[in-house]
Amino acid sequence: DSLFFNLPSTPADEPFAVNGAYIQDTDPQKVNLGIGVYRTANGSPWPLRVVADAEKQLHQASDVNRHEYLTIQGDKKFLKLAANLVFEFENPENTSLASGESEDKDRVVSIQTVSGTGANRLGAELLARHIRPGCVWIPDPTWGNHHTIWDLAGVERKNYPYYDNNLKKFDFEGTIRTLSESANKNDIVILHACAHNPTGADPTKEQWKSIAELCQAKGLIPFFDLAYQGFASGNLEQDAWSIRHFFNFTPRLEFCVAQSFSKNFGLYGQRVGALHVVNSTGCTETSQKLLANLCHLVRGEYSMAPRGGSEIVRTVLGNRKLKSKWFEDLMTMSGRILEMRKALYDELIRLQTPGGWSHILTQIGMFTYVGLSEKQVHEIRSRHHIYMLKSGRISISGLNESNVKYVAQGIDDVVR
Ligand code: PMP
Repeated sequence: DSLFFNLPSTPADEPFAVNGAYIQDTDPQKVNLGIGVYRTANGSPWPLRVVADAEKQLHQASDVNRHEYLTIQGDKKFLKLAANLVFEFENPENTSLASGESEDKDRVVSIQTVSGTGANRLGAELLARHIRPGCVWIPDPTWGNHHTIWDLAGVERKNYPYYDNNLKKFDFEGTIRTLSESANKNDIVILHACAHNPTGADPTKEQWKSIAELCQAKGLIPFFDLAYQGFASGNLEQDAWSIRHFFNFTPRLEFCVAQSFSKNFGLYGQRVGALHVVNSTGCTETSQKLLANLCHLVRGEYSMAPRGGSEIVRTVLGNRKLKSKWFEDLMTMSGRILEMRKALYDELIRLQTPGGWSHILTQIGMFTYVGLSEKQVHEIRSRHHIYMLKSGRISISGLNESNVKYVAQGIDDVVR
């Protein structure tokens, strides 16, 4: 027998499994609302225009160093631009900063990662080994991979109730109650900075303020997952508001940010991301130790992040003209998603589908918990070839002018 014969079986990854089933389906009317990737009005992938421009520039430059190793930390220019996107150090209007600019920058240690997943994993590894938290508080529901990541990092997982199924919004009271009553100092709290996956329901600014206060009062370590900055609302400031609030909070908080460029640059397969670790003092010795430890973990795993995608992002963010073209591309993507939310909502209202549907309009980003039961999700798949996660999470970007009526009719059929 092989050494590996008795390996344990592993859970299937649902989004990828649903996508696989969709591909196998030969029905011409099939619709894929399963996987979280942007699709155009024709249902095809969209390489951003600005990415094509940056690629052209990079290709023309034909730098002899273009395939050399990056440093273990990654591309420093990329990291500076990436951190600035999150924390906005250089905005002179940001008067809420209590201290000088350089000191703020010094509080953040950044390292390039294998996209958002890699940033989540590296942050988990750092905290698991060196902070030894009692547990990690994970929103219920959440992006499924949070469970895998923290399980593999060997940290006990506990849930806080994130979604109010009746009101179809963020369960603020449940979250505050659970964390106040049960969380302990140095426990980690996973927070989706914007466009919560899978529900599309975010805390309000006032609620974010209370969460920051709670984290501070109880000594919890926030861990932000930032996978949709600019993609959610089309506005980079708005989508990073929660993180900037935590950054400017007094007394100072210490936390992590896992940043992904998969969605907002459409660079899914390039694996571009960064982990930013915010410390309270900005003291040089602390920052150096932090960076050294992050580099040590990365060196032992894969030596350094890939450079192809980060060069594209660096080229765009470092150039005023390309950056404004990127803003237009973000508006194109977020705008189409908003239109499709409206189209689905209008159609359900027109059909007088039983139930309330306004959450489709108020929820934000790629996903919505449309409100179907597991049984209804099964029915809509078998009867109408419409694919979504069993929780009823739909990816709005799978909708377009030619299928939105069909999807609304499918929903109407299974809820009646
Ligand atoms: N976090 C969340 C909440 C996500 O939705 C995703 C993408 N599905 C990621 C992280 C990471 O994606 P990637 O590894 O492609 O950056």
